[in-house]
Amino acid sequence: MNNMYKVFLIKYAEIAIKGKNRYVFEDALVRQIKYALRHVDGKFSVIKQQGRVFVETDGDYDYDEAVEALSHVFGITGFCPCVKVEDQGFDKLAEDVIAYVDKVYPDKNKTFKVKARRARKNYPMDSMEINAELGGKILDAFPEMSVDVHNPEIVLNVEIREEISYYSEEIAGPGGMPVGTAGDAMLLLSGGIDSPVAGYMISKRGVGIKATYFHAPPYTSERAKQKVVDLAKEISIYTGPIDLHVVNFTDIQLAIYEKCPHEELTIIMRRYMMKIAEHFAREDGCLGLITGESIGQVASQTMQSLAATNEVCTMPVYRPLIGMDKQEIVKISEKIGTYETSILPFEDCCTIFVAKHPVTKPNINIIKKSETKLADVIDDLMEEAINTTETIHVVAD
Ligand code: ATP
Ligand code: MG
Repeated sequence: MNNMYKVFLIKYAEIAIKGKNRYVFEDALVRQIKYALRHVDGKFSVIKQQGRVFVETDGDYDYDEAVEALSHVFGITGFCPCVKVEDQGFDKLAEDVIAYVDKVYPDKNKTFKVKARRARKNYPMDSMEINAELGGKILDAFPEMSVDVHNPEIVLNVEIREEISYYSEEIAGPGGMPVGTAGDAMLLLSGGIDSPVAGYMISKRGVGIKATYFHAPPYTSERAKQKVVDLAKEISIYTGPIDLHVVNFTDIQLAIYEKCPHEELTIIMRRYMMKIAEHFAREDGCLGLITGESIGQVASQTMQSLAATNEVCTMPVYRPLIGMDKQEIVKISEKIGTYETSILPFEDCCTIFVAKHPVTKPNINIIKKSETKLADVIDDLMEEAINTTETIHVVAD
């Protein structure tokens, strides 16, 4: 497991992090990187130094696992595997860099430039001299390569500090803000394609995620529930641990089914889902709700239906997919690794009590009137549902 890359230089967008926020951002980033690397084989220290963040190792670690872990940390725009060596004079450095280029770029038909940075001022050459000398030696070694100072394919960064490091590759990170730089929000997580993507997108802005899932045993199975736990686990690779509240929604659904007009079932059910999710959101200190809704996707997501659902909420409801097409959502779910789980064919509580002809333009006053038919039972049923909720602490493996 001895790797030539002993250090990763972590790159992050600095636009949003002027002044005091910079510390909050960097501290959260360091914390999240440490967390992401916790199960990776090897010893890592994550350090802040002169406005930059590095992951340092002794070289004895699993490179692929480390790269995988870092590529899931929100806030990282990219990371560069760096070679770090002791200063043994310029000639030795040039020899090492040439060996590095030979190894990393089997195809030498490339343009490059050397970009030296001399942080240690007693180094006998300045950065201009290093650029010119090292560039020349690389050209001597690999005549197929050529220098392009404006738009090179390879930028060979050489940093002279107490030790010397060099790097030229950047691996993409997920971007966004480190989790922990914003508050928490409550995701209504179903077993579908959309809601895991919605949770991912909000978490990408630094938001910690809690989740609520409504199931309807025995109409929905244990395997349907397990699928939601699995989805939570899959997004928790990005979001960090998720407390998942599993609410038994059966009696509420049966009461709605029995007492309310069937074409309004879905809307009324959604309103109670929002109310219960908001209860747990408040209990968990969340600042908003998250759903996977998208305008017009189904009858319960027309503008009128969304207005009717939204009307019961007192917290902001974040709907990051609101303007997206299904294809765009699918693409993200494939990228983040939830798609395969989402398409497993298990029943959902919404599809079991669904009407043949649901209203597509519900009128809030009519919906409220229908809900009065539940007046005798709903408070007790809500309380029962809340009191019997099971909370699962979901952590990525
Ligand atoms: P998804 O793919 O996320 O299941 P969907 O296209 O099936 O979404 P709906 O069933 O109308 O759409 O649900 C819209 C949103 O309501 C979901 O994205 C999710 O946030 C929430 N939701 C729906 N069903 C449940 C449930 N059983 N438990 C928790 N949240 C749910
Ligand atoms: Mg669904």
